[in-house]
Amino acid sequence: AKSAGRNGYRFFDAAMTVAADERLRLEADLRRALTNGEFVLHYQPKIGAASRRLLGFEALIRWQQRDGSLVAPARFIPLAEETGLIGAIGEWALNTACQTLQRWRGEGLCNLSMSVNLSARQLRNPALPAQVQGALARSGIPPERLEMEITESVAMEDPARTVEILRELKAIGISLSIDDFGTGYSSLAYLKLLPIDCLKLDRTFVIDIETDPNDAAICAATIRLAHTLGLSVVAEGVETVEQARYLDGLDCDVMQGYYFSRPLPEDAARAFIIHGVRG
Ligand code: C2E
Ligand code: CA
Ligand code: CA
Ligand code: CA
Repeated sequence: AKSAGRNGYRFFDAAMTVAADERLRLEADLRRALTNGEFVLHYQPKIGAASRRLLGFEALIRWQQRDGSLVAPARFIPLAEETGLIGAIGEWALNTACQTLQRWRGEGLCNLSMSVNLSARQLRNPALPAQVQGALARSGIPPERLEMEITESVAMEDPARTVEILRELKAIGISLSIDDFGTGYSSLAYLKLLPIDCLKLDRTFVIDIETDPNDAAICAATIRLAHTLGLSVVAEGVETVEQARYLDGLDCDVMQGYYFSRPLPEDAARAFIIHGVRG
């Protein structure tokens, strides 16, 4: 029987030391989850700040339990990353996200983009460019409709190497974003060298944007810096109309957050495409 925790199941947690046998079992469960098709993607809308139009979605993985409950990625991605299983899980997510977008395009729901998150290990995998090309070829989506998100801390682990890898991905024609921007320590010299299209302003700066002058200043400065470098800015974690208005005033390009929509299962995301965005 499974040892009890939240969800009646004890998951790997970066902050807790998990016994070796427990880790082995979790690893086996993750492997089984992949072969049994227990992972699902939810899709969170990205909204144009000025136009308030739906621009595309970010694919976010969940682990669906037998009882239908969903396990959040923070509770299994770290172990997947440590064990290397993230390679197969990430490739599944990439292919599935591309296929979903292509299905929507086939239904006439066009001109949308799809963003996929990349982990550190995926980024360092020399097979990544071929995997991306494979996912594009199999699904038939145009490269410019696919976007990959790499966190700032992963990008800056080995900046020179990151530049090389991102150049290879960029040559395929996809878009690239730096995720959780502002939480890592970017060297501006490298930021300038990275062949990226977009910075995603971390949610921690958006939460108190109206009340904390420091957060407001960080958002304003990041947006100005990004625009100076020819990059667009996505604000993450927009939860209120006030935050949306404030970011609009700072000339932010794209917004994402619960105010517009939570990440949605595929059918609900399709309904969102059809029924549109709140103003
Ligand atoms: P992330 O890429 O920074 O994704 C944003 C997270 O913030 C998501 O959590 C999303 O559900 C949540 N979020 C969005 N809007 C709001 C909001 O308005 N308020 C609040 N409080 N939260 C909001 P989620 O889905 O639990 O994902 C957590 C992290 O797991 C992601 O952070 C990403 O780093 C990772 N992840 C998710 N899917 C994948 C995947 O397919 N591959 C990899 N490598 N990592 C993934
Ligand atoms: Ca992301
Ligand atoms: Ca993020
Ligand atoms: Ca994050």
